[in-house]
Amino acid sequence: MKKKTQQFLADLVNSISPSGYEGPVAKVWKAEAEIFAQKVWTDTHGNSHAVINEGGSPRIMFAGHYDEIGFQVSYIDEQGFLWIQALGGWDTQIAQGQRVQISTKKGIVKGVIGKVAIHMQTPEERKKVSQMKDLWVDIGAKDQKDAEKMVEVGDPLVIDSGFMELSNGLAVGRAFDDRAGAFAILEAARLLAKANPAAEVHAVATVQEEIGLRGATTATFGVDPDVGIAVDVTFSTDHPNMGEAKKRENQIDLGKGPVITRGPNINAKLFDLLVKTAKEEKIPYQINAAPRGTGTDANAIQLNRSGVVAGLVSIPLRYMHSPCETISLDDLENTAKLLAKTAEKITPKTNFVPF
Ligand SMILES: [Zn+2]
Repeated sequence: MKKKTQQFLADLVNSISPSGYEGPVAKVWKAEAEIFAQKVWTDTHGNSHAVINEGGSPRIMFAGHYDEIGFQVSYIDEQGFLWIQALGGWDTQIAQGQRVQISTKKGIVKGVIGKVAIHMQTPEERKKVSQMKDLWVDIGAKDQKDAEKMVEVGDPLVIDSGFMELSNGLAVGRAFDDRAGAFAILEAARLLAKANPAAEVHAVATVQEEIGLRGATTATFGVDPDVGIAVDVTFSTDHPNMGEAKKRENQIDLGKGPVITRGPNINAKLFDLLVKTAKEEKIPYQINAAPRGTGTDANAIQLNRSGVVAGLVSIPLRYMHSPCETISLDDLENTAKLLAKTAEKITPKTNFVPF
């Protein structure tokens, strides 16, 4: 990956933007889109749009959500400790003992998620799983008044953990779910801006996926695409202790290419076109099965209005919903290439009626 491109990716991943608070990541994404897209805007829900080949046909929408899981301050107690609620699906065991960054009107406030020392726990307490209601944040405040000078109820926070490279082209980030997708759809649009597609292409970075596909629902209604491809992350099964997961998720490895999903949420002809394109362009790919509505933006896309031709391309990821989400940079580039090359093949004559 080129240095400049990798910096854009790192800037996306490092933006503090949990669901409902996507402002900082939108700024980074749009600044990059403005380099090459014909039209760039943010809608009233917070989804950001970049359009290529306006006036082309049919209309294709790529969706990658740019929110991340995080927390929200819900109470400041007499001693100045902050009590929090989850934005998205947390494994609370991961959150304990972490440093956090709170995004406030006055800027970033640093804190830590506290826990009673192991020495002070009874044998029963040591075996217990901590719950969300047990987590508090310490910002070093003297008391409630002091804390209220720094933070307000409703301020969002995330774990303080940024972009990092590992060996062999792997990278770690707090928010690869799904800044990886938001990155890939914009890189695909960049490739298409240099190509000559028949279609009008909308890359849409969606909000609030982690709390129920809310951004994709409104964005798809607004864009009204003929074809929509969601780009998200999916579970790789190439690390220890995944148990029986392979039997459901298939063998999915980092670095072996984007994962193309097959199942009722996916238009069968679009699936075939994605696979055919990968083969012709010699892009490595993997396949998984999803026997019901996927938990991704593809679900909202498919069910828009009278139905949209929906596809799902996923980037393999280890350790989902942790500050150590790990991906392969090659998979990201191959995902962008697969999206762009597939879009190039779609014309007004392409028939997606499944049977
Ligand atoms: Zn997620």
